[in-house]
Amino acid sequence: MFDILSVLGSGLVISGALLLATAIAPVWKIFRQLPTGGLRYSWGFLILLILIFIAGYIVYAKFSSVQFSQPLDLVVPIIFFCGAIFVFVVCNLSLRTTRDIMQNYALKQENITDSLMGIFNRRYLDRRLKDETERALNYSHPLSIFLIDIDHFKQVNDNYGHQVGDLVLKNIAQLIKHSLRESDVLARFGGEEFVVILPRTKDSTSYTLAERLRHVVADFKLTLPREPDSEPLSINVTVSIGVAELNAQCKDCQCLIENADRALYQAKRNGRNRVIMSKSSNTDTRKNGNLISSPELQ
Ligand code: GH3
Ligand code: MG
Ligand code: MG
Repeated sequence: MFDILSVLGSGLVISGALLLATAIAPVWKIFRQLPTGGLRYSWGFLILLILIFIAGYIVYAKFSSVQFSQPLDLVVPIIFFCGAIFVFVVCNLSLRTTRDIMQNYALKQENITDSLMGIFNRRYLDRRLKDETERALNYSHPLSIFLIDIDHFKQVNDNYGHQVGDLVLKNIAQLIKHSLRESDVLARFGGEEFVVILPRTKDSTSYTLAERLRHVVADFKLTLPREPDSEPLSINVTVSIGVAELNAQCKDCQCLIENADRALYQAKRNGRNRVIMSKSSNTDTRKNGNLISSPELQ
């Protein structure tokens, strides 16, 4: 009886230690995927705690087996074993939950991202613009948008081919994205057109930002390698930008897009590589950084 109880007690504690050891694997997988920082250290600390528990289990099994003389002595080994099961289940559940959350996040991102440009797609833009418009109206905040179109982009495709055209689009999208503020939202509107939503931004500020963006693009040169004995290819494009603002005459997202589109059309007609404010945002239009009066828009 004494021997059976001893074997049972030690068996429970050793099995608990083994379960704890297997619980390290899922925690280690979570730990490895995390970037350096507080959360990673916390999971690392959990691994250390499990190792300390394993050591405690082994020490207990080694020195207390002689005390298992009656069934009641098995209470502690049973608690140890149940504790190990608990840790094992929690660690494995954490790994599965983390993977599910990451998979869902990746799917959601894929659903709202333009695969070529790596910025938000039209589906996301439509929803976000509606939300931002409602928020701006509810809280009486200003809201501006840019409609951006690359100038003479057909020529890029015609001169260098569609694949180079794609590369230019991707680079310009990333250039614009990194030139915007954290709060601005950049999305592909279609083809080689982009929309930027600028929450809480008045038309005077948005004009300055649009001008800055226009300069950033005009100053950028995409350099592509060619055959070893020829010069690398250097491609430069410009953009025209139509700016519109939410106001008493323009109170929904459809009107915002229409006004920005009209301003963009005007920018193209006026010679491209320029920013034009929508008529309902401002009765002045600006040409290459200079404030000028535009009879067409008045
Ligand atoms: P404009 O200055 O008047 O805008 O002239 P444009 O040549 O840019 O004319 P438009 O904006 O009408 O033409 C856009 C061109 O962009 C036509 C199309 O072939 C090209 N394009 C649209 N989407 C893509 C794309 O995903 N990849 C590539 N390579 N080209 C695209
Ligand atoms: Mg174009
Ligand atoms: Mg276009």
